[in-house]
Amino acid sequence: MKNILIVFFVIVIAFTSNVFSQFGQPHCGSQLDFEEMQRTDSARYRRFMDYEHLLQTQLLNSRSIPSGVITIPVVVHIVYNTNAPQENISSTQIDAQIQVLNEDFRRLNADAVKTPLGFRYVAADTEFEFKLATVDPNGNATTGITRTATSVNGFSQNNDVKFTSSGGHDTWDAQRYLNIWVCNLIDPVYPLTNILGYSTFPQDLATNPNLDGVVIKYTCFGVGGHTLSPYNKGRSTTHEVGHWLDLRHLWGDPPFVYNISCAYDDGVADTPPQYEPTYGCSVYPKKDPCTQMIYTGIMFMNYMDYTDDACKNLFTQGQKNRMRALFDDQNGLRRNMLGHCLTGPFWVNFANETVTSDSTVKSCGNIDVEDVSVTNNAKLKLEAPGKVTINHNFSVPVGSTLEIK
Ligand SMILES: [Zn+2]
Repeated sequence: MKNILIVFFVIVIAFTSNVFSQFGQPHCGSQLDFEEMQRTDSARYRRFMDYEHLLQTQLLNSRSIPSGVITIPVVVHIVYNTNAPQENISSTQIDAQIQVLNEDFRRLNADAVKTPLGFRYVAADTEFEFKLATVDPNGNATTGITRTATSVNGFSQNNDVKFTSSGGHDTWDAQRYLNIWVCNLIDPVYPLTNILGYSTFPQDLATNPNLDGVVIKYTCFGVGGHTLSPYNKGRSTTHEVGHWLDLRHLWGDPPFVYNISCAYDDGVADTPPQYEPTYGCSVYPKKDPCTQMIYTGIMFMNYMDYTDDACKNLFTQGQKNRMRALFDDQNGLRRNMLGHCLTGPFWVNFANETVTSDSTVKSCGNIDVEDVSVTNNAKLKLEAPGKVTINHNFSVPVGSTLEIK
């Protein structure tokens, strides 16, 4: 009887703290999605596990992943209620978010020095960069920002924000762009829940391309404006883009929140196992039931935990390898994103130049050439998917070449 009572109390405590976390603590919707998938959608979960097996094999063997910086074209869809102008956040705040993404993913964040020594050796420059698109899906110039006024007061995790027909904005081709929707994100079942954002995983791109992308609550997107402490340093977006690039939570998202057996993990070898999410700002080293024998304790300052923005500061080498495997040219789930001209200048005005050695002028849209001389047997190449217009005073003497692509 006594044992039965103890089991009963453990269940009650586990359930209660889950409900408390639903009410009081901030969280990421991708956790609920991943937990629920394991409980209710075995076919989808099998698809995730099949890719996981392939990925782990691929990480051990030879890969064909591009070296150097991978640039991700981004479109930010601002969806704001007509009666809530604060939701229509400024372009300055959007630029600040893009800058945070670039600093965090390139490990150029000023607080990188706060990574504890025990983890500093695994901290990584992931070599991802993010740029607002300059070319839209129709080939026209864009700021990479869409703005939609809506009568919807708040969007839940049901993806209505991703469709114009339900008061949001349609997805731009997810094979070519990272879509980020910024809106008033709410949980209609638990209205006091502080849901900061959620992301799709790349394993769902082929089956649900119109849902692919990241949704962020407007109070934690970017820096300044109407952002609210302690999620006012843009790290919620860093976290969600981490999911979009196939990263998991450090505690492995078991079906019922807690990693009781410590057997669940994030598929990354250089992050310690972890029992549960971490909130606030912890003190290093922090040990939990899964890290009693590990001197560093858990990696609560990793971007994929729930720690406050001010106390997160790293991705690891293992996370970097996992993210970049998405761009393997054989079976990377996001490999089709590479090679499109979407973030360069849309219009190049090439004027008043004398070209004396082989040169290339590139644009993702149009090129206007005016008052240019090509001399000294040089070759001038003009590359643009759009119009190339050659105006007056353009000279190419014998021996020099003009090549238009
Ligand atoms: Zn998350």
